[in-house]
Amino acid sequence: RDWERRVSRSARKHTSSGLTVLVTGAAGFVGTHVSIALKRRGDGVLGLDNFNRYYDPSLKRARQKLLERSGVFVVEGDINDSSLLKKLFEVVAFTHVMHLAAQAGVRFAMQNPGSYVHSNIAGLVNLLEVCKSADPQPAIVWASSSSVYGLNSKVPFSEKDRTDQPASLYAATKKAGEEIAHTYNHIYGLSITGLRFFTVYGPWGRPDMAYYFFTKDILKGKSITVFEAPNHGTVARDFTYIDDIVKGCLAALDTAKKSTGSGGKKKGPAQLRVFNLGNTSPVPVGQLVSILEKLLKVKAKRKVLPMPRNGDVKFTHANISSAYRELGYKPTTDLETGLKKFVRWYLSYHSGSKKKSSW
Ligand code: NAD
Repeated sequence: RDWERRVSRSARKHTSSGLTVLVTGAAGFVGTHVSIALKRRGDGVLGLDNFNRYYDPSLKRARQKLLERSGVFVVEGDINDSSLLKKLFEVVAFTHVMHLAAQAGVRFAMQNPGSYVHSNIAGLVNLLEVCKSADPQPAIVWASSSSVYGLNSKVPFSEKDRTDQPASLYAATKKAGEEIAHTYNHIYGLSITGLRFFTVYGPWGRPDMAYYFFTKDILKGKSITVFEAPNHGTVARDFTYIDDIVKGCLAALDTAKKSTGSGGKKKGPAQLRVFNLGNTSPVPVGQLVSILEKLLKVKAKRKVLPMPRNGDVKFTHANISSAYRELGYKPTTDLETGLKKFVRWYLSYHSGSKKKSSW
C-alpha cells in the first residue's frame, strides 16, 4: 500500500498538459538529470533502476537521495522483471517511457558480455513487450548511442550513414536495439524514438568515463594514459554536456506522437525516429587533458600509447541537422564551460561533504 502510494504520488503530474513518464535507469547519470528536469516542469515521473554494481553504487544511492528530494521515487528493480513492470503499468497510466537503463561502457563488454545481452537486448525486448500490451500504449524514447557508427564510418556521422560495423559488443547491442525498435514499431504500432548520444559528461557523471577518471588520477598525481590512433593520428570525441542532452531528451518526449496500437492501420503508421544528440565539435583527448590541467591547476603525468583494439573508435563527430530541424536541438555548452561545472561538482562531492554537493 505504502509502495503504491509512493509510486502514484511520484507519477502524479502537476500541470494539465504534463506527461506521465516512466524513466528506466533513473539512478544513472543521464536518468537522474532527465528525471529531475521533467519533475521540475510539472510532469509526473517514476524512476526504475536495478542499482547494478558496474560502478560505485554509492554514487547511484547519492543520486537517488537527490531524486527523492526532488519528488521522484525510484523503484528498485530490473527491466527484465515482467511482473514488476506490469504492476507499475497497472498503478500508473504512463503516457511516455524514457528508457535509459542499459549496461554501458565499451571495455567492460570484453569480460562481461552476458550483462549487455541481459540489459540491452533481453531487457529492451521485455520492456517493449509490456509497453505493447499496456493500455494506453506509451510512446517510447530510448538511448541508443553514437557507437552504432562503428569502424570506418565517415565523419561527421549522420543518421543515414552506415551502422554495419560495430566496434564493440556494447555498440552491437545498441544497433540490435534499433532493429528491435523498428520491429515493435512496425508490428505493434509503438511510437519509438532512438537518441544516439555522443560522449555525455557533467556533474553526477560516470566514474568509468575518461573525463571523470582523468580528474581523479590527475588530482592523485597518478599517470594517465592518452591513446593515439595509428600514425600519430588524433583520437577525438564530440563531448556533449548533460544539460544539452537533457534538452534533447525532453524535446523528443514532447514531440513523440501517441502509439497507434497493434497494426496501426486505421490511424496511419506509428512514429519511428532516430536522432544524433551530439555537440558538433570534436575535441582531441589530449586537449581534454589540457583543459582539466588548467581547471585543476595540476600538471598531468601523461603516457601516450597506441590505441588498443578494445572497442573504441578513433573519432566521433555528430551531424545534428535532423535533431535541430525536428526537435529544435541546439547544444550551447563548450567543453571548457561544461568541465568547469563538472570539476566544481567533483571537488564538492569528493570532499566528503556529500550531503552538501550542489546540483
Ligand atoms: P548509467 O550506467 O549511469 O545509467 C544506466 C542506469 O541503468 C544505471 O543506474 C543502472 O543501474 C541501470 N540499469 C542497468 N541495467 C538495468 C536493468 N537491467 N534494469 C534496471 N536498471 C538497469 O549510464 P548513463 O551514462 O546514464 O547512460 C544512460 C543511457 O545512455 C544508457 O542507455 C547508455 O547506454 C546511453 N548512452 C550514454 C552515453 C554517455 O556518454 N553517458 C553515450 C551514449 C549512450
